[in-house]
Order: sequence, then structure tokens, then C-alpha cells
Amino acid sequence: MCLLCPPTSVAPSSPWSARRAFLLAAGASVSAPVLAQVDVGSASSLRKLVPAETLENSAAQQYRQMLEQARAKRALAPEGHPQLQRLHTIARRLIPFTAPWNDRAKHWRWEVNLIGSPQINAFCMPGGKIAFYTGILEQLKLTDDEAAMIMGHEMAHALREHARERLAKTQGTNLALRLGSQLLGLGDLGQAAAGLGGQLLTLQFSRSDESEADLVGLELAARAGYDPAASVSLWKKMGNATGSQQGGLAFLSTHPSGPARIKELEQNVPKVQGLYEAARRPG
Ligand SMILES: [Zn+2]
Repeated sequence: MCLLCPPTSVAPSSPWSARRAFLLAAGASVSAPVLAQVDVGSASSLRKLVPAETLENSAAQQYRQMLEQARAKRALAPEGHPQLQRLHTIARRLIPFTAPWNDRAKHWRWEVNLIGSPQINAFCMPGGKIAFYTGILEQLKLTDDEAAMIMGHEMAHALREHARERLAKTQGTNLALRLGSQLLGLGDLGQAAAGLGGQLLTLQFSRSDESEADLVGLELAARAGYDPAASVSLWKKMGNATGSQQGGLAFLSTHPSGPARIKELEQNVPKVQGLYEAARRPG
């Protein structure tokens, strides 16, 4: 386990803090930053049906459970593992560029862990809880630039609150009805969102979420000095891996590689090339 950021105080659980959390969530901004080079527009306002802080707390709990399970199977990479250190270096370079994409990210306790598993998989849960499986690094023989593209993509899902939006859409009718009836206290709303946490690892994002994550991730990685061209080589590797690799293909089934995805990335590489070159320039 690695805590990349200093711990922030955890608000006590009380009706008052639940109310405050809701107000913070409602006011949080997830617009695209003014200086963004890629064009993804504003995040869906539907996501506001699910309080961000409650979802992040729920994700953190689920992340802890997952790490415990991995540790019990002796599949959690120890602090000194070279591949984990490599991931930490990438995360440390990307994190400073995340805040403009989401006000809340300034307060996230980002974590990066490596799980020993042949599965081609990686994710970032709401609140910045990242995991890579050894399978994605080893089977795709990812360069640092390509691993940074994956990490940027996964961070972008969290920054653009795609899980929150997806949960709001799947649970939306139910929550909206209860909200509309004005019978639902904020504590109840928080509980409803906490119950959604169990679905976080099995969520399937939409194609537009995937496209957004590709572009925001591309820009994050370019600003951190990772070669934008690696986004194209990465998805070509993913495409070649489909159906021919050992281990689970969960990531590939939720992240189909194809000509459309690669073409969109190719079109966006020139937009962030200047950011990459500026980041590489000494001084
Ligand atoms: Zn994705």
C-alpha cells in the first residue's frame, strides 16, 4: 500500500456532516479546465443524485477489502517491488495535473497498489484508489509511457466521476422518486449511496465515458511528460491481445480496442504534443 498524499482528517459520521457532505458534493465542479487541450465538455449533472463523498468513502472501504483479500492470497506487491515503484513514479508525475479536472481531487488520498494476477486489468475507484494487475504490465510489456496512458485513463474515469454518473443512471429512477417525494432524509440518501459501493468493481462504462477517459488521460500523461504517441501503441497492443492472452480478459471486454478508438487518439495526439514537449524541456 502506498499513500501518495498526506492524510486528511475524516469527518465524523453525524447528520450534520452528512448534510455538509451533500452540499460540498452539489457544489463540486467537474467542468473541463479552461486550458484543456482535448475537448470533452462538462460532466453529466445526473451524477449529483449520488453524493460524491459517500461514494468515495464506500469505494475506499471496498478498496481496503480488495487489498486484504489480495494480501491473504500473498498477491499484494510489497512496498519495494520494482514494478510497484515504477507505478508510484508514474502516479507522482500525473497527480499534480489532476486537480483542474475535479475540485475534490485536491483532497483525495491517492493510492496505488499492484496485485499479482495474470489478468489484464487496472482501475481507479472514486476518490483515487488505483490498482494495476501484474498481467497488464507483463503480458502487454508496457513501456512507462504506455503504463502512464493506462493510469491517466483510469484516473480520468475517477476525475470525471463516471462511476457516480453510471450509478446515478442505474439507480436514478429509484433515487429520483425518493428525492422527489421529499421523504428522504440526507442520512438515508447517504446510506443508499453507500450500498452502491459494492457495484464499483463490476461497472461497465459507456463508449462516451471511455472516449472521455482516453482523451483526459492522454492530456494528463502529456502534461506529466509522457509521450502521447504511446496512447496509440498501447491500444494497438490491447487490440492484439484480445483473445490471445492467458488470464482474464475483463479489461479488454470493457475496453474494446478498435480502429475508431485508435483513430480518435491519433487525431488528438497533435493537440497535446506541445504540452509533452514543454514538460520534457529542461528547466
Ligand atoms: Zn476505461
